[in-house]
Amino acid sequence: HVKAKGKDSYRFYSESMSIDTANRLNLERDLRQALERDELRVFYQPQVCSKTNRVVGLEALVRWQHPERGLLYPRDFLPLAEETKLIGQLSERVLDQACQDVGRWIRSGHSDLRLAVNLSPIQVEHPRFVETLMQQVEAHKFPAGNLEIEITENVIMNDLEQISQKLRELASFGVRIAIDDFGTGYSSLNYLHRLPIHTLKVDQSFVKAIRSGDDGACIVNAIVAMAHGLKLEIVAEGVETDEQLEYLRSLGCHQVQGFFYGPARPAAEIAKTLGITRARAASFG
Ligand code: C2E
Ligand code: MG
Ligand code: MG
Ligand code: MG
Repeated sequence: HVKAKGKDSYRFYSESMSIDTANRLNLERDLRQALERDELRVFYQPQVCSKTNRVVGLEALVRWQHPERGLLYPRDFLPLAEETKLIGQLSERVLDQACQDVGRWIRSGHSDLRLAVNLSPIQVEHPRFVETLMQQVEAHKFPAGNLEIEITENVIMNDLEQISQKLRELASFGVRIAIDDFGTGYSSLNYLHRLPIHTLKVDQSFVKAIRSGDDGACIVNAIVAMAHGLKLEIVAEGVETDEQLEYLRSLGCHQVQGFFYGPARPAAEIAKTLGITRARAASFG
């Protein structure tokens, strides 16, 4: 039952695909309350240049600080948010918070810092998607050139004509476009040189396959080579080990994200990493 605590309730949230209608309604009510009570949190995971060890970007990842169950991860509540259309409100909150936090850091001297945000297919498919997004970004005076949106290949293949128009419009404002989980969707490669794409994010599953003497790494080689050929930026996801980092470095893939450099963390901790004290941030923000 939804009120149960501990391991089972965690499992319940994780298996949202198989929950019955009553529980679904409870979870939906909880999520609605979470929005009202402001229980959503935005954590940031550093994207680091392995040449300089500098943080070049931050990916915003949503968390739910549940009053009884503790910190919940996207897989526990995003599917339901998408089914119930609460995803619109959720996304709005995440972008607001992220523009506020990262906007402050950009103004306090990290002028090139990139903010990466994940978008749901439902959001992108909305007819007024570009308008809504840009209004929000401008309301925060967030520099559009510092924003990178992450979409998946499946979103692109869904309706190539529509998406192409929207991405062009966004790109004209200076917004950057990244393909998340690259290589795992059902897509053709044809869109890569037809759409205004800036970045490919190598999926973690390919990075995991990097082991010395193993040919699991050949997909990473191919993706990096293709990105270089197409003059796209490349970010490797899920980098956990020194070995993976070194291998990526040898391929010329220098932007990495993963537990090797650290997981997603709350804004206050990220500010410390960036060397921004609260006082300093306040005086600049
Ligand atoms: P993603 O965009 O591919 O994000 C990467 C996921 O991998 C994150 O999980 C991150 O915490 C995790 N990760 C990072 N480094 C490592 C590593 O070294 N090893 C391992 N094993 N995992 C690592 P998270 O935060 O649970 O997010 C899962 C997915 O939920 C994201 O995948 C993204 O698709 C979605 N998501 C997260 N936040 C949002 C949001 O605000 N809006 C939307 N629409 N989707 C979101
Ligand atoms: Mg992502
Ligand atoms: Mg990914
Ligand atoms: Mg993913």
